[in-house]
Amino acid sequence: MTSLVAAGGPASAGNPNNSKKFTQAVTLEGVMDHLEAFQEIADANDGNREAGTSGYDASGAYVEQVLQAAGYETRRQYFDFAYQEQGALQQISPTPTTYVTDSFTGSGAGDVTATVTPVDINLVPPRASTSGCEAADFAGFPVGNIALVQRGSCDFGLKADNAEAAGAAGVIIFNQGNTPERSALIVGTLGTFDVDIPVVGASFATGADLADPSTTVARVYAAPIENRPTFNVIAETKSGRADNVVMMGAHLDSVRDGAGINDNGSGSAAILETAVQLAKVNKLNNKVRFAWWGAEEAGLIGSTHYVNDLVTNNPAALDKIATYLNFDMVASPNYQIGVYDADESTYPAPVTVPEGSIQTEDVLTDYFDSVGQPWVDTEFSGRSDYQAFIVNGVPASGLFTGAEQLKTAEEAALFGGQAGVAYDVNYHAVGDDISNVNAEALDINSNAIAHAAITLAQSTQAINGARSAGKSGKPHPVEDHQHEPAA
Ligand SMILES: [Zn+2]
Repeated sequence: MTSLVAAGGPASAGNPNNSKKFTQAVTLEGVMDHLEAFQEIADANDGNREAGTSGYDASGAYVEQVLQAAGYETRRQYFDFAYQEQGALQQISPTPTTYVTDSFTGSGAGDVTATVTPVDINLVPPRASTSGCEAADFAGFPVGNIALVQRGSCDFGLKADNAEAAGAAGVIIFNQGNTPERSALIVGTLGTFDVDIPVVGASFATGADLADPSTTVARVYAAPIENRPTFNVIAETKSGRADNVVMMGAHLDSVRDGAGINDNGSGSAAILETAVQLAKVNKLNNKVRFAWWGAEEAGLIGSTHYVNDLVTNNPAALDKIATYLNFDMVASPNYQIGVYDADESTYPAPVTVPEGSIQTEDVLTDYFDSVGQPWVDTEFSGRSDYQAFIVNGVPASGLFTGAEQLKTAEEAALFGGQAGVAYDVNYHAVGDDISNVNAEALDINSNAIAHAAITLAQSTQAINGARSAGKSGKPHPVEDHQHEPAA
């Protein structure tokens, strides 16, 4: 960490009640310990920590255990969400083979074994086709067969919809194979097309395999959508005003395809270690409430449930949230140090930015400026767990080190790394494991998160003015006061 050791011993031995001491108390080693625990959990649970599965449940139990050991009371907030088990794709004959696959979002449910009929595919470079884009592609299609269509020229949904209209019992959509990026397994969404037959994805190689010979029999399976319970984990500091709460959140669930160590073990671990260290601070003006959201990857379900529950059942409690800070990917291997651009100085926001968000962004950017750390704006898009908060007028900001988009030359000059390469080449993929985190980025952002926690725990005056105790504010309410000696 960057700060100096205070005279008389390590800061963590005392009351780390200012930014310098507190950023030092939240160590990279402490955060990495949590990431290693998440990796072990994924290893023991089918390689992932997806909501609705044992890997997620174990992640939640780990967070609770660490928090409880630090003195927190934890709360599980359960909710149901739409869960679909993994799809399947097998060659039955002539060569029994099981392929890596999954069903498309919006696929119908079904389990079909039938002969595979290629539909206007093109296996010869450059492999350009309009496979399945026109109804005419299916002229003479044998009703009840499985349609094998290739990516390219039109929406996946249109290809599947045309196949269903032609009497296909199932659809395999395989990648185009024209570039290395378009050769791996492709699983996408059928969008607004209403498709009732099972539709699964395949790599180019799998598609080529199934196309030859044309008498191939395959099995295509897409699971029905079921309601599954999952949960958020919530905990807050004992110290601080209950009527002026600072919230920090990170989604705890991974995608199905990997351990989710950068996305979003990183944000989860950073706020967890911040919570552990914050419990040691003698006296806070404002409560800090931490949330580990479930089912973010299924569509921001956990955070939306939390906010909507307050809107419906306890609007006064929603009103007491001074600001919300979101941390979704803070250790991308080819990182940027990105801050949600609440003041829209770089990106016009596609959403309404609540008042106080600019001042929340300032807490993060002022910190980076104070330690000479370069940073860039990242769009205040609402495309993570802060969405439900901002929709309901709660100020927000957060940090983001980047996902599948490519790093620019300017960013490479600021942060190092490779221009023209994705911030996280393993985004939503099996490679998002413990080796997929950039320790430097994680250290920088853990410091920023620690700084924001201790700074806003002492005052949110810049964000919500008179409502905050601030430095010149009201005394702590009796019910929230911890009777330790003053720092
Ligand atoms: Zn994420």
